Amino acid sequence: METYRLFIGGEWIEGDSGTYIEVENPATKKAFARVPEGNGADVEKAVEAAERALPQWSGLAPEERAAYIDKIADYFEEHKEEIGKTVTKELGAPKKMVIDWHVASPVAEARFFAETARTFPYEEKKEGVIIRREPVGIVAGITPWNYPLDQVTVKLLPALSAGNCVIVKPSQQTPLSVYALAKAVEAAGMPKGVFNVVTGRGGAVGNLLAAHKKIRMISFTGSTGAGIEVGRLALSNVKKIALELGGKSASVLLKSGDMKKAVESTLLKCFMNTGQTCALTRFIVPRERKEETEVYMKEFTQTLKVGDPMDETVDIGPVVNENAFKKIKGYIEKGLEEGADMIVGKVPETCENGYYVEPVIFTEVDNKMVIAREEIFGPVLCVIYYDREDEALEIANDSPYGLSGAVFGEDEEARAFAEKMETGVIHVNGAPFTVQAPFGGYKESGIGRENSVFSFDEYLEIKSVLV
Ligand code: NAP
Repeated sequence: METYRLFIGGEWIEGDSGTYIEVENPATKKAFARVPEGNGADVEKAVEAAERALPQWSGLAPEERAAYIDKIADYFEEHKEEIGKTVTKELGAPKKMVIDWHVASPVAEARFFAETARTFPYEEKKEGVIIRREPVGIVAGITPWNYPLDQVTVKLLPALSAGNCVIVKPSQQTPLSVYALAKAVEAAGMPKGVFNVVTGRGGAVGNLLAAHKKIRMISFTGSTGAGIEVGRLALSNVKKIALELGGKSASVLLKSGDMKKAVESTLLKCFMNTGQTCALTRFIVPRERKEETEVYMKEFTQTLKVGDPMDETVDIGPVVNENAFKKIKGYIEKGLEEGADMIVGKVPETCENGYYVEPVIFTEVDNKMVIAREEIFGPVLCVIYYDREDEALEIANDSPYGLSGAVFGEDEEARAFAEKMETGVIHVNGAPFTVQAPFGGYKESGIGRENSVFSFDEYLEIKSVLV
């Protein structure tokens, strides 16, 4: 079993506790690596290292910082196969999608934020005032397991580019992919202490980072419940907070929409990363198109292969761990109990040979059902039929969340519908995501935005110099 270390102050060091957290391969259920179980002493070391590095790093010219960030992109490009393998091993994400979805995004983010650092207007002059943007200071990232490298880079590359020093606590489920960023930072020759990794448990390292006085901003991605807890701790000493939380996003097929396009796009997004993406999980379809939509959903799902994530022909691998398997199984049983029709898939029986869950499609779902309201975070789609389009909008917006969404219809009509959806991101007729687009949620899906220049700006303080 491979043993990892902490990365603090540019050094690879043992954890203070001497205890470890094991990392399991969800396809084989075998533990294959372990990381230090970080504690308060490790957090202190990381904060001290970041504090020492801050004056030099924040004092560099933006172009100098940008050059380092570009080197991180180069490293990811050169090591993409190796990074992809780590993601597959610890998460179970299929080899087929891992480079495009787990490695390409960090590269795009690094290139984008390097360029943003070079071109950002750090100082604006208005009548009687100079408005300056300055780094916040020490920023901590607490990240989830579903995109173990990308969820770190999307928050910490803008933070670094903007002149902050950072500490990351990756998820204890998938803590290994973040080491690619530590190695990239080392290979780029970045000053020691600018980037630090403290592995450990949310309730320990996560809480300590959230409450630490010298850390001036927490950027958290994860469940809404944990985000509220982290936000509470962060506010105990009035830190800046950015929260990227849960979602139960709607994909709406309007009566004028291309049904096949809507089905393909919605199913691919829902089942992508084995359903462990904050993507489209409620499909809202005109009742008059029920029959043709069901036929095509069945046909399309049959083209998706479930199995060993190392097999290049596989589309859907295992879910991350036994807890996730049991939780998803419980929701599938709940859906049947609530009276939804399972037209695709089955209740998974056992996870003896890996945590595999076949894709499930429920139709005749009522938006009040538990399966339509709560995050399942597995390959389960809820189809809700509507009669009138105002009803479709009501259903789409009737959720505690407001993260993402999609609408399919005649262009102008679809855009008008998109404007009325209460969600931070909406794809019209399958338009792809771009790093230029701010990503984040309305309502209980979060506070703040990732990607885009808005994210870069979040890692800066605003100072008015009155002259
Ligand atoms: P999670 O259980 O909330 O954990 C997220 C991170 O927070 C992990 O590093 C976790 O550490 C840590 N943590 C948990 N409880 C904590 C606490 N009380 N104090 C401090 N840190 C704490 O979420 P997850 O299961 O990893 O990820 C799935 C969730 O993330 C879903 O709800 C999904 O919607 C959301 N997500 C949202 C976005 C977005 O862009 N909005 C993107 C990806 C995922 P441990 O691993 O040690 O528990």
